[in-house]
Amino acid sequence: MMKCQCGGLLRFDLQHLQDAGRLGLRDQVSLLWKCMVCGRSRKSDESYPLSQVVASLDQLTLADRSQG
Ligand SMILES: [Zn+2]
Repeated sequence: MMKCQCGGLLRFDLQHLQDAGRLGLRDQVSLLWKCMVCGRSRKSDESYPLSQVVASLDQLTLADRSQG
């Protein structure tokens, strides 16, 4: 689990992905996490194709569902 400089947990920013999709930035999307405590955001150094990011997110979501 990634953590912020303040020690708070970082949560993956889905809104950022939706914005990228809407703006047509589908080739190279950087990943964004937001701290749940101080609100500071952290960006990935590398960027990835949006389809690849969404596919990995789907897998995570499915994994969550299978547990519940
Ligand atoms: Zn923080």
